[in-house]
Amino acid sequence: MPKQSDISTAQANSGKPPVDLISTAQANSGKPPAHLETSSVRIRTRSERQSTLDLSASNLFAGSSASSIAPEDGTLVDEFGRVHDDLRISVTDKCNYRCVYCMPEDGMEFLARKELLSYEEILQALEVAKSLGIKSVRISGGEPLMRRNLMTLVAMISDLGIEDISLTTNGHFLGRQAQDLHKAGLSRVNISCDSLVPDKFARIRKGGELARVLESADVAQQVGISPVKINVVVMKGINDDEIEQFCEYGRRNNRIVRFIEFMPLDAEGKWSFQQVVPGEKIVERVNARWPIEAVDEAGPSHAPALRYRYLDGMGEIGVISSVTKPFCGSCNRLRLTADGNLRNCLFAREELSIREILRSDSSIEDIQTKLALAFRLAVSTKKAGHGIGSPDFIRPNRSMSMIGG
Ligand code: SAM
Ligand code: SF4
Repeated sequence: MPKQSDISTAQANSGKPPVDLISTAQANSGKPPAHLETSSVRIRTRSERQSTLDLSASNLFAGSSASSIAPEDGTLVDEFGRVHDDLRISVTDKCNYRCVYCMPEDGMEFLARKELLSYEEILQALEVAKSLGIKSVRISGGEPLMRRNLMTLVAMISDLGIEDISLTTNGHFLGRQAQDLHKAGLSRVNISCDSLVPDKFARIRKGGELARVLESADVAQQVGISPVKINVVVMKGINDDEIEQFCEYGRRNNRIVRFIEFMPLDAEGKWSFQQVVPGEKIVERVNARWPIEAVDEAGPSHAPALRYRYLDGMGEIGVISSVTKPFCGSCNRLRLTADGNLRNCLFAREELSIREILRSDSSIEDIQTKLALAFRLAVSTKKAGHGIGSPDFIRPNRSMSMIGG
């Protein structure tokens, strides 16, 4: 296992080409549903990638048509009435694992340190976002615990008055940091774990150690982080035989297991609909073994997971059917990539750079005004849905680890 500090430089200096993905054509093999077949992809150069960022701050605030559609005041409500109060912040695109559905083993090119937003810059943007109604923050990546002193950022966010701070992590470095993160203000954690069989875990989550991840989950729970959720990306023929074992694990340890449909966000572009296990099949399987019922949310639910409780009172599971039953209608989130681009959807094809705004020479007031405009623009240009199910769906240019899942 490489040391945490070794990984970035070794990989960044590998000289291998960047692997941002661009869809060149949707496969149309004739197999139903054709629009959900694997798209062909090619590796893009960095300059090509930059050219897609056409909503850059300079364009945006030079009187482009984009800026004219950004509301000048108000909070983050889009044209479909969706209130945006959740911000997902990616703090790095690097990772010490190479999960089969996320990153290839070779060829990843990572951001240089100067390209990442500093913690201070993240906070400056968040302060504006909070004034516009952002109430909860999830920290993700890449592997967020690869970023040094993450507890400092958590404490800064907490001091800003954001009470709901959560983290999505592969769990590798969590055990030793859980206590400090919790003290800094981390309330909830999602730990990704796709197999309870050590060898299989290592094959899916390349570079990963199951025992270490499960121990991290125990430690997180012991120090008081609650709830501790376990994210399982279910892939047909790979780990769908373990659905019941995961339920047993969750029931035994008082952890919410969340089954996630495999999404077309893998960096290699190998996703195909045939590998997706539909959420409703998962529900049927669990229900056949331990009867479950849907949990009625008290208020409007923005969570991507449909919740089901065991009728015998042994807790609950979550099912995230992003592919077969998208939750776009109730989406409340915006995303900030590690290099400071705002995205209004995991599957968005456009981003808006706020790093340019943050690093401009303007006055603090001017920067704040532009940041607010950028957040409003991201919301006002949000589409009704991600469109995975539509024939003209095109994969986003960035994979999950680059966006921040
Ligand atoms: N490295 C951390 C981790 O693995 O939890 C955080 C980042 S990871 C990109 C966030 C979540 O996205 C994880 O739960 C991961 O399993 C999930 N994920 C990554 N690629 C995915 C894909 N193609 N389809 C569905 N989920 C995916
Ligand atoms: Fe790393 Fe998370 Fe992607 Fe796995 S899913 S490669 S742990 S960023």
